Amino acid sequence: MDVSHLIDSLNDAQREAVCASPGHYLVLAGAGSGKTRVLTHRIGWLNQVERVPTWAILAVTFTNKAAGEMRARLDNLIQGGTQGLTVGTFHGIAHRLLRRHWREAGLPESFQILDADDQQRMVKRIVAGLGLDEARFPPRQAAWQINSWKDEGKRPENIEAGQHPVTRTLVQIYQAYEDACRRAGLVDFAELLLRAHELWLKQPAVLEHYQQRWRYLLIDEFQDTNSLQYAWIRVLAGRTGQTFVVGDDDQAIYGWRGAKVENVQQFLRDFPGARTIKLEQNYRSTSTILKAANSVIERNGHRLGKQLWTAGEEGERIAVYAAYNEQDEARFVIERIREYVAEHGDAKDCAILYRSNAQSRNFEEQLIQHDIPYRVYGGLRFFDRAEIKDALSYLRLTANRHDDAAFERAVNTPPRGIGDRTLDVLRRRARGESLSMWEAALNELAMGTELAGRAKNAVKGFLAMIDEMARTFSPSPLRGEGWGEGSILPEALAPNSPSPNPLPGGERASNSEALSLAEQIEHAVTQTGLRDFYENDSRGNAESRVENLDELVNVASRFELTPDDIEAGLSELSAFLSHAALEAGEGQGESWDNCVQLMTLHSAKGLEFPLVFLVGLEEGLFPSQRSVEDEGRLEEERRLAYVGITRARKRLFITHAESRRMHGTEMLSRPSRFLGEVPPSLLDEVRPRVQVSRPLYAGRFAEPAPSLQEDLPVKLGQRVSHPSFGEGVVVSAEGSGAHTRLQINFENAGSKWLVAAYAKLTPL
Ligand code: ATP
Ligand code: MG
Repeated sequence: MDVSHLIDSLNDAQREAVCASPGHYLVLAGAGSGKTRVLTHRIGWLNQVERVPTWAILAVTFTNKAAGEMRARLDNLIQGGTQGLTVGTFHGIAHRLLRRHWREAGLPESFQILDADDQQRMVKRIVAGLGLDEARFPPRQAAWQINSWKDEGKRPENIEAGQHPVTRTLVQIYQAYEDACRRAGLVDFAELLLRAHELWLKQPAVLEHYQQRWRYLLIDEFQDTNSLQYAWIRVLAGRTGQTFVVGDDDQAIYGWRGAKVENVQQFLRDFPGARTIKLEQNYRSTSTILKAANSVIERNGHRLGKQLWTAGEEGERIAVYAAYNEQDEARFVIERIREYVAEHGDAKDCAILYRSNAQSRNFEEQLIQHDIPYRVYGGLRFFDRAEIKDALSYLRLTANRHDDAAFERAVNTPPRGIGDRTLDVLRRRARGESLSMWEAALNELAMGTELAGRAKNAVKGFLAMIDEMARTFSPSPLRGEGWGEGSILPEALAPNSPSPNPLPGGERASNSEALSLAEQIEHAVTQTGLRDFYENDSRGNAESRVENLDELVNVASRFELTPDDIEAGLSELSAFLSHAALEAGEGQGESWDNCVQLMTLHSAKGLEFPLVFLVGLEEGLFPSQRSVEDEGRLEEERRLAYVGITRARKRLFITHAESRRMHGTEMLSRPSRFLGEVPPSLLDEVRPRVQVSRPLYAGRFAEPAPSLQEDLPVKLGQRVSHPSFGEGVVVSAEGSGAHTRLQINFENAGSKWLVAAYAKLTPL
């Protein structure tokens, strides 16, 4: 058989890895050296040459997007298609396992995923419920601590709090949080992994089934696995599984979230006979970009040490722009993008990478202004928007009445006269009697004395509405009781048969009288009064909220179960809700393919773009202030810089602003030390663009001065007009060139300092 398509496009070292004989392998190599390509081709090789069935292969990627891309590549590499192959993130795979084995995992069938935001709200309620001071136990930190414990595989009873009072209280919060999640049938992100791990340990039959099935485990971005993920792989591999892990210690950037780069060395100890293969040729970037990346990362100690070279062209030098402030920075970047798009037409080639999410806004404003389509990854995702979560909370409640997070959200949005006092009564009862809010409400209505008649009626109306909605959604008699979805699935376990066995009756939403998912959402949005509420919302952006609700209906109508969902026995509703929680903003806006991509450096891992803008390279921002004081953290920031630089294929722009508004105050900042670590010979400083009196041109990136400034005589005492501030008088000036700032006393707006070059002033 012809397998040339699997190996032709590889160099010797890559081929060695792809065609390696059975065993454990660690591919350790720098950015852009083809690790992901090797991993993908290895899967193709195993299937096409070694005749390993697709269902015996498990591939773990870092994001859902990467999983999708890998599957698409494999569809071309594997004759017969990728059906049966499992590709996904650790979270996605754990989620599917738990859906399939909810009973063995001790979960209710209709368990829902609690996202990070709802988790924090829940912890907040628990902190309040325990009578603790939020200032001493900030919910955010408590949630972080709980997640860290889970990442280490620890339950409250495994934590040695000793005499430490703060730790003891945190354990108490953890315990109360666990109880609340259990009552509500909720599973947070860390819990997905921990439960799936416990499933291995507590259910030997389940473990054995999957050990027999997934005999080939391939893991991308291995350097960023945490303890639990690593333990998970080890247990799953057992004595017979074969592992193939690829990674780069220089790109370990999730230490702050519990990832352990030590797992790379641990792997070599735990998997006897494991071989290391190094790849040294970079295929992604120009030699200029690669040299810059190498010279930055060289400053770190404790590296495993790898070489990286390229046969590629030298390419252009890295353009560095010292912006006056963050708006000027955004303007510069967007203008370069416009030029590029005008010349090449592809906005999707351009990526703007920043250290923190908050930086995206300025770029977004400029992109909107110029009508350039863009997409923000990992920022406020579509599914994180309040109106979307409100709408979904109704669906969640119809699926599972005990979902407290959904109850708390839905109960008074739109307002229906159920105030905090009423809710407090219910919360107290729920806590005291270990009930869900729903049960507490039922009990309170049946025998409570604390609520006044009006409040009782409001609560009763809410419960009745949800029950009625559930009946409309799915008129089956089993629905709307207990945990919501009532049908009982047969055991999914088939220890003797390693082949995947789609569950009979896995698709439960196929009742012909039942409403489709889109109809359910439409119904929920309308019948609950949510759409009316947002239409009449005076808090602004009512229109976009209503549009988002409509878009949710559209998204639902396009939603399709994947073969994996069907295999895991997910109903359409469950699959959709899980998708909403697990999707990391990667899948939204599929219809706008040709968009400028905006994302944090963390989410850019593994990706590549012809044109990259690395923005905000300032001390205190990148590296972040906290990392500056701690050598370990500083090294992680430097690896982040390395990741950023190596995302660029052809052209890299680095920008920093001399002044930036951060946390509400104007800060003056120095260029990042990482910029100083790039040899000056690789850099091309873009001259600030204008002087007040005459335009200054320097280099390719200079641009015509804005028309106005060219002939603006800056004289003290000059009367000028500004589009927003109105008329005023120039009272002083400082700086020179593009950095000239003018102080203007506006008649109505008071005194302002403005940059002459961008202030859009008209002399009067
Ligand atoms: P990262 O560390 O950033 O995840 P990586 O090591 O996974 O990078 P890939 O993304 O697999 O690298 O490859 C980088 C680029 O080089 C891709 O565009 C890939 O298609 C290309 N590439 C890899 N190997 C070869 C090769 N032998 N010939 C041509 N192109 C290659
Ligand atoms: Mg990769």
